[in-house]
Amino acid sequence: MIAVIRKGVSDARVAELCERLRERGLETHVSVGTYQTIIGLVGDTASIDIRLLESLDEIEQIKRVSEPFKKANRKFHPEDSVVEVGGVKIGGGTFTVMAGPCSVESEEQCMIIAEAVKAHGGAIFRGGAFKPRTSPYAFQGMGREGLGILSAVKERFGLPTVSEIMDAHDLPYFEDIDILQVGARNMQNFQMLKALGKTQKPVLFKRGLSATISEWLNAAEYIAAGGNENIIFCERGIRTYETYTRNTMDLNAIAALKELTHFPVIADPSHGTGRWQMVRPLARASVAVGADGLIIEVHCHPELALSDGDQSLIPRNFEMLMDEVRQIAPAVGRRA
Ligand code: PEP
Ligand code: MN
Repeated sequence: MIAVIRKGVSDARVAELCERLRERGLETHVSVGTYQTIIGLVGDTASIDIRLLESLDEIEQIKRVSEPFKKANRKFHPEDSVVEVGGVKIGGGTFTVMAGPCSVESEEQCMIIAEAVKAHGGAIFRGGAFKPRTSPYAFQGMGREGLGILSAVKERFGLPTVSEIMDAHDLPYFEDIDILQVGARNMQNFQMLKALGKTQKPVLFKRGLSATISEWLNAAEYIAAGGNENIIFCERGIRTYETYTRNTMDLNAIAALKELTHFPVIADPSHGTGRWQMVRPLARASVAVGADGLIIEVHCHPELALSDGDQSLIPRNFEMLMDEVRQIAPAVGRRA
C-alpha cells in the first residue's frame, strides 16, 4: 500500500505519521521525489482502514499495491534508484559499462584486459573467480586466489570490481569486491538472497535461465526485504526453443523492468547471445530499449579462454562497441 502525501506537508509531520503507522505494525518506506513524497507501507495492510487514513490531513490518497513485490516496485519509489560503487553511478540517467573476462585466469591476463577496458571507457571490471559450470569437469574458477587478482586490478587501475558469489559462506572473501554478482543459476537461491539482504553490498542480480519477469522481481524482493536496496538487475538472455544462439536476449524484459521497478537494469549481450559477432548489435539494441548499462565479456585471446571464449570480444571490438553505445545512449536520455 502507498500513501501519497499532500504537497507542503513538512518532513517532521511525515516522520510523525510514519511513527504512527509503525505503531500499527507496518513497515514504512519514505520516498521523496521532485513532484511528490510517498510512504510505502509493507506488512499486514489488509487490516488497515483506507478511508480512515485518507481522512488524515497529511494524506492525499491511499493506493493498494497489488503486486507481491513491494520494495522493488516503482510504485513505492517513482524515481530511479541510483546504485553507487567507488564513485561510479549506475542508474538515474547514467550509462555504465562493466567489462572483463568471463573467468579470472591469471594476474597477467586480468591486467592486460583491464588496461584495455579502462582505455575504452569501461567503468567496472568483471571477472568470475567462482564459476558455476554445467560440467563438474570444466574449469571451476580460481576461487579466493581469483578474488585476490581482482583486488590487484582494482588497486592498479582504480576500477571497481564485480564477481559472482555462489555461496553465502564465501561472503567474507568478497569484502574487497564492490559488486556481488548473483548468477542466473542462483536467482532463486533464497537462502543466499536472504544473506545478501543483510549486507549493504550492491548486488548484480541476473535473471534465471527460464525465470519469468515476475519471478525475477519477487526474488529481488528477498534482497530488498532484508534491507539491502543496492540492487542492479541484469537481463542475460533466457532459454527458448532457439538453439542457434546460446540464449535469447529478452529486450522486452528490459523495457518491462524499467516500468515495473526503480532499480537500475543493465544488459548482458555476451551470455544473451553466446556469439561474439552478435554482442555489438545486441548491445546497441539494449541501450536503445532503455538499459542503464552493459556487462560485456572481453578477452585478449578468446580462442584460449578457459570459459565463454565464443562470446568474448577482443579489445578492438570492445572499443567499437563503446563508440557505438556512446552515440546511442544520449538519444535515450543516458549520459554516456
Ligand atoms: C557469467 O557472468 O560469466 C555467468 C556465469 O553468467 P550467468 O549467470 O548469466 O550465466
Ligand atoms: Mn561467462
